[in-house]
Amino acid sequence: MKMPQKFRTYCPFCRAHQVHEVEKVKKSKTSGLHWIDRQKGRRSTVGNMGKFSKVPGGDKPTKRINIRYRCSVCGKAHLRPGFRAGKFEIKE
Ligand SMILES: [Zn+2]
Repeated sequence: MKMPQKFRTYCPFCRAHQVHEVEKVKKSKTSGLHWIDRQKGRRSTVGNMGKFSKVPGGDKPTKRINIRYRCSVCGKAHLRPGFRAGKFEIKE
């Protein structure tokens, strides 16, 4: 889907409709500090990896997209529940 870069929508900080700029939320990298990551690191790469040897599933045809809406009046950004789309573009 295509999305305009700027459009008027509700700002929960101003409690009114304002012009908002659209930003895509970048996927954060895993820090590798979780217990499951350390448990994975303890396994040797030889032989059966137990529960870590599962075959990863295929990619889904659509991905959930998260967008940040930044208000041009107060400069604060808010999020909305993401939606699924195969292709996503921000129109100039
Ligand atoms: Zn605002």
